[in-house]
Amino acid sequence: MNKNLFKVYICRPYCVFFKEEKKEDMSCMGAQVVEMLVGNGRIDSSKISRYKKEPVLWEKHKKNLETYVCSRCSFREQDCDFQSENPPDNTEPCGGFILLALLKENNMINESDMELSCE
Ligand code: SF4
Repeated sequence: MNKNLFKVYICRPYCVFFKEEKKEDMSCMGAQVVEMLVGNGRIDSSKISRYKKEPVLWEKHKKNLETYVCSRCSFREQDCDFQSENPPDNTEPCGGFILLALLKENNMINESDMELSCE
């Protein structure tokens, strides 16, 4: 996975946890799934718009993304308040989750893309 590339269109624009100077050894599953869909041609990264964050979509797509993405994420247990049992108010998901919700909402990915991401 090319970390510098996905930082540009996933982490920097969408992720509240992203810090420019901080080196991460791992990425969240949301970012990995977006990268996988770009890598296998299901999404053209040059066509990803600079969407506005829409918290209403996080709840709308939460269950579906929980199934395909968060359930496999290494950050979920220890570090992810958004997917915890009692998320604090105004908690944001990671940038990968946010972008996946936006891509789903804008019909740039569908259910079969999500299924593919689990293979
Ligand atoms: S919202 Fe949380 S559990 Fe889901 S992919 Fe992002 S960091 Fe992982």
